[in-house]
This record gives sequence, structure tokens and C-alpha cells, in this order.
Amino acid sequence: VITRQHIVSWLQLCAEVFTEQRDFLTRLDSDIGDGDHGLNMNRGFNKVLEKLPSVADKDIGFILKNTGMTLLSSVGGASGPLFGTFFIRAAQSTNAKQSLDLPALCQMLKEGSEGVVMRGKAEPGDKTMCDVWVPVVEQLERDRQGNLDIIDALRLAVDRAQQALESTITMQARKGRASYLGERSIGHQDPGATSAMLMIQALYQVVT
Ligand code: ADP
Ligand code: MG
Ligand code: MG
Repeated sequence: VITRQHIVSWLQLCAEVFTEQRDFLTRLDSDIGDGDHGLNMNRGFNKVLEKLPSVADKDIGFILKNTGMTLLSSVGGASGPLFGTFFIRAAQSTNAKQSLDLPALCQMLKEGSEGVVMRGKAEPGDKTMCDVWVPVVEQLERDRQGNLDIIDALRLAVDRAQQALESTITMQARKGRASYLGERSIGHQDPGATSAMLMIQALYQVVT
């Protein structure tokens, strides 16, 4: 199972990853956006990290909700409200929980992903973070029905996330700043989808 401590470690690792990948993400966003995505994610997760000690002994829902509200208030642009919504919605089904089995993890990510889709109104194929969230959730649902254990399920989810991320390269953006470029957005990997993949990868890393 995934424990509260895993969730805390996950958020800490996200903060590390977004520090390491800041310049890379910003470069991706310079190609098809305004070049601030790495800075946005780095700033947001540094704030999350700062606040973790004060929530680390609370239940998973509380920690996730706090994370979402922190991202919402500290990250501007499109991605702040979207990743913020992801965590706030993910917090709903994990309210009062100290640990998550695979069905509960699935549910958490599903509600988070649905929250992003509702808020951003992007569909798969629009070249956004949804192009990672949606297939990852679908993969996890299949894994759950196949009775896989949580580590195997997450490994498959990471593989799926990487594949899904690559598929954003050939897409034309239909949402967000990148959509202003029209056909010129083709040939570049989406920055927000890259962040979503990094978050799933970090989750896998903390449980192995
Ligand atoms: P901004 O574009 O406001 O500068 P960021 O650069 O931080 O914000 O984030 C850009 C990312 O946000 C994009 O790469 C894309 O993945 C995501 N994004 C933008 N608009 C949407 C949307 N409507 N739905 C889902 N994701 C979106
Ligand atoms: Mg940007
Ligand atoms: Mg911006």
C-alpha cells in the first residue's frame, strides 16, 4: 500500500525534481509558450515543501488538499490552477485516509485528472497535461482490474506516461498559450505534460 509517509516523500521528491528540471521545462515552454513553466513548477513545489512539516502528520486528504491550495496560490499562469485543482480534487476521495491500496490510488488520480479536464476543458489530443493524466488513469484502471500489485501497476503507468508524453510532440496545441502558434506548435513536447509525467515517475520512485 501507499502510506501517508509515501505521499510526503512523493511531494518532497517532486520538489527536488522540479528544481533539477526547472531549466529543461522552461526551455520546453520557451519553444511553444512564454518560457516560465519550469519557474512556475519550481516555485510552487518549493512552497509545498516549505509547508510540508506543518501537515506531515495529517491524513492523506489533508496533505493533498494543502498541496493543491499552495500550488493554486503560488503558481500563476495556466498550470497553477490546473495542478492545484488536480491535488484538491485528488484530496476528496482520500479524506481521512492514512494509506491507499491500488483501487484507492486509482480513484485519487482519476478524480484529480477529471478535475483538470473539467477546469481546463482540454481533450486528449489538445497537447496539454491531460494527454498524460487521462491515459495514465486508464492504464491504472486496467492494472487494477488485472489485480496487479501497486508497484507493478505504477511501473506500467510510468511507461504509459512516457509514451503519452512523447505523443504530444506531433500534436498541434488547441489549448493554452501554445495554441496561439497553430501549426508551429507541432514538433515540440508539451511542458505541462512533461511535468505530469515527472510527477507519476516520482510517485513510482518513492514506492520502490
Ligand atoms: P502559462 O501557459 O500560463 O505560462 P505554464 O507555462 O506554467 O502556464 O503551463 C503551460 C502548460 O499548461 C501547458 O504546457 C499545458 O500542458 C498546460 N495547459 C495550458 N492550458 C491548459 C488547459 N486548458 N488544460 C490543460 N492543460 C493546459
Ligand atoms: Mg508558460
Ligand atoms: Mg506564463
